[in-house]
Amino acid sequence: MSYFLDEFASRESIVMRLENKIAIITGAGSGMGRAASVLFAKEGAKIAAVDINLESAEETVKQVKAGGGNAFAMRVDVSKSADTTAMVDETIKRFGVPHILYNNAGIEGQGGFLAQLTEEAFDKVIAINLRGVWLGMKAALPHMIKNGGGSIINTASIAGLVANRGSAHYCASKAGVIALTRVAAMEYGRYNIRVNAICPGAIDTPMVERINKASGAPPSSGARTSFFGRVGKPEEIAKTALFLASDDSSFATGAPFIIDGGWTVA
Ligand code: NAD
Repeated sequence: MSYFLDEFASRESIVMRLENKIAIITGAGSGMGRAASVLFAKEGAKIAAVDINLESAEETVKQVKAGGGNAFAMRVDVSKSADTTAMVDETIKRFGVPHILYNNAGIEGQGGFLAQLTEEAFDKVIAINLRGVWLGMKAALPHMIKNGGGSIINTASIAGLVANRGSAHYCASKAGVIALTRVAAMEYGRYNIRVNAICPGAIDTPMVERINKASGAPPSSGARTSFFGRVGKPEEIAKTALFLASDDSSFATGAPFIIDGGWTVA
């Protein structure tokens, strides 16, 4: 009996959930984008690791390759349509039409109470967090349609669902990502394209470190937001992204997946 169980376990462990898939991951040079790049590659996907910071994307590629995966790095500013078009074209040239687009790049922006936010800070957050997600989908969708389908994952935030003091622009951008996700799912489901959003709570990434530093909050302050007394790990979000990227989530579309250690329950 135990022989059969062992046999089953080892067979299970060699099934790669993204075998022969091609994935574009934006913001791949840091935090959750890097964790997803490494995990998706371990599961068999070829990765276009794109980031506005080329060096950091190259470091991600190094980590992917060290794990036996395949990836290339590219400098892309997701708020610029010429860049997002080039991102998709280059991926097609190197690997083929992407099956997965993970629109993860985002910034926290210069914070402040609503009336104190500058127009520049507001516009920058909207341009990267919201327009960037739209531009990524706009560039990839026609190719995914021709290719017979795909899975798009957009990074929203629980800040798109609940209020966060000092981040009106950020909250609005993330609520917008949830809205874009719903409409995209409705419009492109007929082409076998699924579109979902992830709404992380406080996750241990350089972004949260910067936010804590800027506000003078202790590094562990995000832990209070979760029932587990800790912040989330980027790898815990990467596993959710993997579920959404793979056929395991074949009936999920248009949905905001809340992964927040319980933050929004109370
Ligand atoms: P991070 O700062 O560690 O990584 C973000 C990456 O995006 C960086 O590598 C950065 O260079 C890149 N980037 C920034 N502007 C870009 C642009 N214009 N074009 C391309 N790349 C760009 O942050 P993270 O915490 O890993 O955040 C990833 C996503 O998750 C973001 O969309 C963020 O808003 C969201 N999020 C983060 C948290 C959290 O607690 N960390 C919670 C909810 C949502």
